[in-house]
Amino acid sequence: MVNDYEAVIGLEVHAQLLTKSKAFCTCATEYGLSPNTNTCPVCLGLPGALPSLNKNLVEYILRMGAATHCSIRSQSTFVRKNYFYPDLPKGYQISQHNDPICYHGYIEIEDSVADSETNEKRSSGNFKRIGVTRIHMEEDAGKSIHDIGIDTLVDLNRSGVPLIEIVSEPDIRSAKEAVQYVKELRKIVMALGICNGNMEEGALRCDVNVSVRKKGETILNPRTEIKNLNSFKSVESAIEYEIVRQCDMYDALADSENAGETVVRSASATGRFDVASGEVRTSRSKEEAHDYRYFPEPDLVPVVVSDEWLVRVQQAIPELPLSRKWRLVEQYAIPAYNAAILTEEKELADYFEQASAALNKSKDAPAGAYTLVSNWIITEVLRILGEHKQTIQEFALTPTRLAELVALISSGAISGKIAKDIFPELLAADESPRAIVERKGLLQVSDESAIEKTIDEIIAAHTGEVEKYKGGKNSLFGFFVGQVLKATQGKANPKIVNDVLHRKLDAPVAK
Ligand code: ADP
Ligand code: MG
Ligand code: ZN
Repeated sequence: MVNDYEAVIGLEVHAQLLTKSKAFCTCATEYGLSPNTNTCPVCLGLPGALPSLNKNLVEYILRMGAATHCSIRSQSTFVRKNYFYPDLPKGYQISQHNDPICYHGYIEIEDSVADSETNEKRSSGNFKRIGVTRIHMEEDAGKSIHDIGIDTLVDLNRSGVPLIEIVSEPDIRSAKEAVQYVKELRKIVMALGICNGNMEEGALRCDVNVSVRKKGETILNPRTEIKNLNSFKSVESAIEYEIVRQCDMYDALADSENAGETVVRSASATGRFDVASGEVRTSRSKEEAHDYRYFPEPDLVPVVVSDEWLVRVQQAIPELPLSRKWRLVEQYAIPAYNAAILTEEKELADYFEQASAALNKSKDAPAGAYTLVSNWIITEVLRILGEHKQTIQEFALTPTRLAELVALISSGAISGKIAKDIFPELLAADESPRAIVERKGLLQVSDESAIEKTIDEIIAAHTGEVEKYKGGKNSLFGFFVGQVLKATQGKANPKIVNDVLHRKLDAPVAK
């Protein structure tokens, strides 16, 4: 029974860094160039070519270390990790081993259910720290292309692209929690500007390590590892599949002393998740128990990080997405659900805060208008960005003009419906929202005496309906509202129409 067991999960995440050039040569890191054009003797692994370290690689990993509360080594070294692979012409990968530059940190994650249902921050224990064992620097290998014709082709453009590997402690307890962790990690690298987070292109990919144990036990059982998962969905499905498989196997082998060994051998330790079938397939057995023959890289000097450098990096770390989410909830009183979406991308949250600042200056905007701004961004703005495959930085409407539109709605000058109607025009030209509304004669009528006059005329023209309403046919109220809106081409302020109609129609019948 799966219910008798607890899953123990640790993740190794590789993030491709956004440096302009590769880790140890000056070739560009650009994605999608024609095969093997972006190479040089160093990243082709030609004999005698000498690597030299890209300083930005260190700068970027220091940012990640600082953002994940890691200790930082003032001196760390590179090693050669030896293995044979057709897309690794040198026969080794430059990496770090016993002295990774960052170690002993943590990433804070949040329970996804609680997060959307309540605005109450830390009270319900929704937060959990996942330990970060280490973060180290390494270079990517090239790419083998198997699916064209009968031959396997090798593209070395990716060879030497800088990566960081973030290794977690086995602190994760479910597939959902693992996804939460990867999501948080992805938001962090994006907010730090060190990785574009594009999982589909492999810029962020995960190896998951899974074991199970009887609930209440504290031992670590043998684990299996599933490599190269590049979507949240595949992380979740691969872990769920593996948990069930291992639990079934422990149950079946309940009497055997070597159940753990069997569990691991049966998965051949390293598997590949097949998205189509939803199963973990054996790909290759793990490089014969770590026989990488690590040895110090003789062509690179140790990396030295001065205190000054580290302090400068630490001071420049932006507010992290999860903290920012809860600050937005507190500062603007917007729903946690909205804040979560806004802080998925730093620039989107920036846009919200800029629009809110502009709104703050506008005298028409009442309290509560910030929620309206956030609603507009997470619905209308994101919808249009999706349709046009645009980023928020490319969006035509400035935050100030969105704030003007929201001020018109929240002050009652126009209805939300009319705001949506004029939205395309707002995007197409630089005209201010108020100018568009005035030019088209769409300003809402909030002049109570004008509305009262219209209502008096309608009451006088529909004495029959008035009688029926007063006789108890309450449903006729909607009829009167409709008449008023018709007479004013939909521009009468609905709240005032309601108030005045109630006052007139519900007045005691004169004897
Ligand atoms: P390797 O290079 O063999 O993959 P690492 O130390 O780089 O080893 O990574 C080990 C990963 O496996 C870490 O994320 C760690 O948390 C996780 N892990 C270690 N032991 C277990 C276990 N018993 N069950 C699940 N995960 C584990
Ligand atoms: Mg591993
Ligand atoms: Zn190169």
